[in-house]
Amino acid sequence: MNYNKKSVRDIDLAGKKVLLRCDFNVPLKAGVITSDKRIVAAVPTIKYLLEQGCAVIACSHLGKPEPSFDKWAKKQAEKGKAPEELTEAKWRKSLEALCMEPVAKRLSELLGKPVILAGDINVVNDDVKAKAAALKPGEIMLLQNTRFNKGETKNDPEFAKELASLADVYVSDAFGAVHRAHASTAGVAAYLPAVSGFLIEKELGVMGKALANPDRPFVAILGGAKVSDKLNVISNLLEKVDTLIIGGGMAYTFMAAKGYTVGTSLLDTDKLDYCKDMMAKAEEKGVKLLLPVDTVVAASFPDPIDGPVAVETVASEAIPADKMGLDIGEKTREIFAKAVMEAKTVVWNGPMGVFENPTLAAGTIAVARALAESDCISIVGGGDSAAACEQLGFADKITHISTGGGASLEFLEGKELPGVACLLDK
Ligand code: ADP
Ligand code: MG
Repeated sequence: MNYNKKSVRDIDLAGKKVLLRCDFNVPLKAGVITSDKRIVAAVPTIKYLLEQGCAVIACSHLGKPEPSFDKWAKKQAEKGKAPEELTEAKWRKSLEALCMEPVAKRLSELLGKPVILAGDINVVNDDVKAKAAALKPGEIMLLQNTRFNKGETKNDPEFAKELASLADVYVSDAFGAVHRAHASTAGVAAYLPAVSGFLIEKELGVMGKALANPDRPFVAILGGAKVSDKLNVISNLLEKVDTLIIGGGMAYTFMAAKGYTVGTSLLDTDKLDYCKDMMAKAEEKGVKLLLPVDTVVAASFPDPIDGPVAVETVASEAIPADKMGLDIGEKTREIFAKAVMEAKTVVWNGPMGVFENPTLAAGTIAVARALAESDCISIVGGGDSAAACEQLGFADKITHISTGGGASLEFLEGKELPGVACLLDK
């Protein structure tokens, strides 16, 4: 896949109307934004566009609204909701909870200027078109949640055309959504010149280079709990890396494939053959595959997650049948850290243990510290890995923390990202 795409720097934007796809999919609790990180991250591209004299029409999805009443009612019924609860009014309420008002308000505070909210439930209608047409250079408006329109997730060309009709240029800066072929993330680019904003430009620059032409040794570290999702990236990574490190909840399926007993640890029994194939592939490609040699185990998963837990460290081939592996052991930490210190490029996705618990955080801390102390190009993807780096205070020593969990994983898998493929080549 070609990662060499035009950005806002590469075209003349002076005085243009710009449709800007952002990732404003922020966490909300009772209508209040609990983290504005994604809105803050969008500000540099927005400011740049406004300074160029653009009129900016921003849009984003927010959560997972169900735009069809019938489908909503069916899903609620499946969840066991009583028929009298399945009213149109309740459905509308579920949509209202995902309106863009709180985003418009926060964005306006961050920009220090008004953000006009085009609040139509269909996202685009005549009124919204009139508002967009009247928008002046240096002004910004925000469309309603793109997923309120049934055409969004279907990548319906009619909806894409409606969106495109509002503007002269399409700018995409929603890296967290580029792995989805939706109307506002990809479809719209068929009708407008399309370039990236600064966030996607950086993602492509750093991760694209790491995958296409890495400084070596190139080390990838995989961990975390989304085992089935993440196992799929291994095959592609084995084509690129010199060393592949597997820790966290990912490691036990490999250990089981080697014939070890893994007790009650996370295990994807459907993927045992795949793991065997991957071990064979690593050998064939001359890639060093590092698995934990020792493991921190406990009687069960801590509950609450950060509550007290009694642990012991055992050799990975000797996990007792009634114990659960929850972090990498001390010897493993040293081996993994050494591999990181010797690397020139490191990609890390997924914590090495249940880092939310102080007793089970040492493995993740060891890897994060090695990444921070090494002078390698370090790339962290995945929401929890990024949170771990931030909580541990290492974030500013990492070259790049990717803003898109799922998207960065598909990037590593070597899949074509529809929201990137649709942008103009350089
Ligand atoms: P990311 O968000 O970085 O992509 P994941 O969502 O895949 O990572 O996994 C993060 C979660 O994995 C964390 O909540 C952590 O507690 C959990 N985890 C790590 N190691 C283990 C383990 N050995 N057993 C169970 N859960 C684990
Ligand atoms: Mg996660």
